[in-house]
Amino acid sequence: MSRPSDRELRDAIGPLDRMPVNMRRFFDLDQFDPMPTPGPQDWLANHPEPGQSFAEFVRSHPNRPDTRRHTLYLQPLDEFPATGPPLRELKEFTEAFFSMPVRVLPVLEHNAARVSSRTNPSTGLRQLLTGDILGLLAQRLPAEAFCLLGVTLQDLYPDPSWNFVFGQASLRERVGVYSFARYDPSFYGEHTTDRAHLMLRRSCKVLAHETGHMFGIAHCIYFRCLMNGSNHMAESDEHPLHLCPVDLHKLYDRIGFDLMARYAHLRDFCRDAGFNDEAHWIDMQLKRAELR
Ligand SMILES: [Zn+2]
Ligand SMILES: [Zn+2]
Repeated sequence: MSRPSDRELRDAIGPLDRMPVNMRRFFDLDQFDPMPTPGPQDWLANHPEPGQSFAEFVRSHPNRPDTRRHTLYLQPLDEFPATGPPLRELKEFTEAFFSMPVRVLPVLEHNAARVSSRTNPSTGLRQLLTGDILGLLAQRLPAEAFCLLGVTLQDLYPDPSWNFVFGQASLRERVGVYSFARYDPSFYGEHTTDRAHLMLRRSCKVLAHETGHMFGIAHCIYFRCLMNGSNHMAESDEHPLHLCPVDLHKLYDRIGFDLMARYAHLRDFCRDAGFNDEAHWIDMQLKRAELR
């Protein structure tokens, strides 16, 4: 796969002419890192996806929040212990990223009668069956929910023949479930001093990426981007926490947020959370947009 030309990238971003001139600067190609050539273990070397331009996205008629379905719901499937990513911070990040109201529901009590589980033979840890959880969530979709996302610190599996899965979603049913279990360095027996920070960052990333899919955004092949596919943890750690101009345009088209206000909110969150590289990058974008 050859690297897309600037012209192909601009075509993928789509028309910005209805946007004020200074807002268009948020979509300038030179502010984004090009997609690196994938290594043999990386996502694109193993899943050669075609990409999804802005025009293709619009033609797929993805869901749009409206006056009825306007809120993102997070559904914890277990108590998040002090060692997990704080739900309050995940909520704040999701609110900033999507510029939409987010509600965290009380822990959903589930038992073996409704959600199958097993002990994974290689890790010895309990895993929950994703299909059962999705079924349970679909029955409980709140009337105002744009989508309902189950979050858990338990490991997941999609089918008895699989070892594990990070998450699974049904766009049609507006439900998804994601596990943060494998984002914890200690899952791999690694001990780092920045464990809490790393886990929060990874959890924010997966929440935004997967919620992006709930808006109909496919994997990105154009730039280094939050919506890049990921085959392993190191690859996913390389992805930025922000959207490339193609995918920013898609999200803007669905939600219609104020681009400046969204970035300002995200920058403040990133600064407070200690995501200094991201806070700095966003700050640069805001300063460029403020120039006359
Ligand atoms: Zn994905
Ligand atoms: Zn992208």
